[in-house]
Amino acid sequence: MKAVVWHGTADVRTEQVPDPRVERPDDVLLRVTSSGLCGSDLHLYELLGPFMHEGDILGHEPMGVVEETGADVTSLRRGDRVVVPFQISCARCAMCAAGLQTQCETTRVEEQGTGARIYGYSSLYGSVPGAQAEYLRVPRAEANVLKVPAQGTDDRYVYLSDVLPTAWQAVRYADVPEGGSVAVLGLGPIGDMCCRVARHLGAGPVFGIDPVPERRGRAQARGAQVFDPGQDPVAEIRERTGGRGPDAVIDAVGMEADGHGPVRLVQKVVSMLPKGAAASLMESAGVDRLSALYTAVDLVRRGGTISVVGVYGGMADPLPMMTLFDKQIQVRMGQANVRHWAPEIQPLLEGGDPLGVEDFATHHLSLDEAAHAYAMFQKKEEGAVKVLFRP
Ligand code: NAD
Ligand code: ZN
Repeated sequence: MKAVVWHGTADVRTEQVPDPRVERPDDVLLRVTSSGLCGSDLHLYELLGPFMHEGDILGHEPMGVVEETGADVTSLRRGDRVVVPFQISCARCAMCAAGLQTQCETTRVEEQGTGARIYGYSSLYGSVPGAQAEYLRVPRAEANVLKVPAQGTDDRYVYLSDVLPTAWQAVRYADVPEGGSVAVLGLGPIGDMCCRVARHLGAGPVFGIDPVPERRGRAQARGAQVFDPGQDPVAEIRERTGGRGPDAVIDAVGMEADGHGPVRLVQKVVSMLPKGAAASLMESAGVDRLSALYTAVDLVRRGGTISVVGVYGGMADPLPMMTLFDKQIQVRMGQANVRHWAPEIQPLLEGGDPLGVEDFATHHLSLDEAAHAYAMFQKKEEGAVKVLFRP
């Protein structure tokens, strides 16, 4: 079959690889019909390269049709249309029972000390072959697919695997009071969807921050007040929130995924310095912004909540603990527990389209276009926000 394969830093290729097959009695084999390209793939593309192995198949946001079932699978049959949550969980352990599928005790990756296995995440999350491919082996299938109706577009359902539950969890964790204010840092697919979900769940003003004008435009068209982080929006947003700052801030950026390695390094050094010294060093280094997490700490009101949905992979990112403690900020974070949130989200996909999933994707591409797709999405060119592969 064809698959998108990691070969090195910023080097992905579409290649023929051996077909996956049913290996265990609880597996199903999925024929993939749509498969998303995610900001998390951009981390693997570059920054998390050291965890990758040449030949790893990428991708973790698939949906498709069941092609074959293992002998023990009774609730699924060939031809069923399903979406596959990005993490693999068992539905039986204490963590799964608590709605924390990303911490599943039976699929956790003990060698790495990380949580539940994730498709296409190489050794970091259990070396499970990814879903930007024509076929996917789904282990423990009955606990690891979401059935969706046979009719309706793929675009309507595919985001159940990642974007929707991720944004949903980010907003729930942000704990925005009814009618309260929330700022979303980063307006990629995740931040954009966070703005939509926040409004849907009853937030008042939503502030969206991103350096890319097209991304700001998308969020603005759906009611967010938007800002360029280069223009220091903190003071302005504070003014628009009674002088206090928003009740919650969502960091939907995470590690910089824009290919500016040196910027990240400088940021790390800078973040250990006192504020004044940091600003002048940033200036002399030509770095015009601190990482999103620092903006979040600065921006959120006292006693407010920061919900970190962007992925951070550093081992020792210094945190401004004094400010966090003094402002009494609550911080919540983590990979999204897909199956936990799916029942709240799925009804929104039947009938109307309150979250605008039908025209959320900016690009539908074949697997053959993967190298271009990754480069375009990373550089934020050609208006790329959400890319779906159609294997
Ligand atoms: P993306 O890379 O398209 O989005 C990041 C956005 O942040 C970009 O639009 C970029 O222009 C913007 N940005 C960069 N620096 C900024 C700054 N200082 N201030 C404001 N905006 C800034 O990726 P995405 O698909 O939207 O994913 C966003 C993050 O969410 C990634 O880190 C991804 O790994 C993570 N993620 C987490 C989960 C989870 O389960 N928690 C799931 C999916 C994705
Ligand atoms: Zn993803």
